[in-house]
Amino acid sequence: MSRFNLKNHHTLALPAVCNNFYEVTHVHEISKLTFDLENYFILGGGSNVAFIDDFDGDIIAFKGNSCVITEHTDHWSVEADSGLVWHELVILLTEKGIGGLENLALIPGNCGAAAVQNIGAYGVEFKDVCSAVEVFDLHKKQKRFITKDACHFAYRNSIFKRGDARGLLITKIYLHIPKDWQPKLNYRGLESLSQCVTPKAVMDRIVALRESKLPNPEQLPNAGSFFKNPVVSEQQADLLKSQYPDMPCYTAADQKVKLSAGWLIEQAGFKGVEVDSIGTYKKHALVIVNYGNATGASLLHFVREIKEGVLRRFSVALENEVLLIGKYGIVNL
Ligand code: NAP
Repeated sequence: MSRFNLKNHHTLALPAVCNNFYEVTHVHEISKLTFDLENYFILGGGSNVAFIDDFDGDIIAFKGNSCVITEHTDHWSVEADSGLVWHELVILLTEKGIGGLENLALIPGNCGAAAVQNIGAYGVEFKDVCSAVEVFDLHKKQKRFITKDACHFAYRNSIFKRGDARGLLITKIYLHIPKDWQPKLNYRGLESLSQCVTPKAVMDRIVALRESKLPNPEQLPNAGSFFKNPVVSEQQADLLKSQYPDMPCYTAADQKVKLSAGWLIEQAGFKGVEVDSIGTYKKHALVIVNYGNATGASLLHFVREIKEGVLRRFSVALENEVLLIGKYGIVNL
């Protein structure tokens, strides 16, 4: 049986195949699909997944990409197909002078993945603007709406990522963007902008910052930040801070403290390290890069080395942000 090559369908570009790859543009096409109901995976832009083995199942990708923006008295509402490239939506709104998404500029992937992952950058998260999500239930073959609250958005997480929404293919996202916009400029690199800045100027700065630090997946295959920033107790953070006074720490919810995964990986000696064509990016230790001929096995080996190195040095467990897909679906390390 000839199988479908996935190398160009995930931005880490590891060698892998699947049984069948179905691309659909309209909801009515989805209900007619006959695919492997036992083992399937819903794929967006492929920028937050890594196929670490041949996937013994079928893949479904929704490619609808239209968008409707409606003005109301005090807010804008946006309905965007899940196959629309996220950054195209950011540009569309920002260039109309609509502020709210500019801090999320240049995050790779599609609008559907923005909901799965609850993407976040520079102090803004997808959940801040999302009002609901439209899904197609692949098992019941019907359309449903899921409110923002029912999506259970959390730090780089949602019901769609945790697997408790099995069979729900996101077809549309709904955004509610208030008109009383205030720029969010408290991250490093943004403080020098004036409070009178436009959404477009903030977007331009963020694009420049990201381009200066992060590799373009089209030139150097990667999946963005590979690990989440760990959140630890105040006691653990105080203990670490007494040993490593330069360690960055940020206040998180529930009296916890967020650490910088990139800093921990760098201090554990992994910045710029390359083994078997896989390595961390020279300018940003949080990004794992395929330097040419990496395989799923070399990625797994390297990821385990990093996790063990950070655990040994700091007693902090790193968790993947990138979803690993093996022969039978999601692989947890
Ligand atoms: P950085 O300035 O080197 O800081 C490292 C980490 O510290 C960031 O990841 C950020 O956490 C946290 N941080 C920094 N300033 C903060 C503040 N004022 N308040 C609270 N937390 C703060 O960051 P960077 O690596 O260049 O990334 C900048 C932004 O782009 C971050 O928000 C990051 O998440 C985002 N980014 C996302 C991806 C991705 O693929 N998902 C890749 C690269 C960068 P948070 O990550 O929680 O914001």
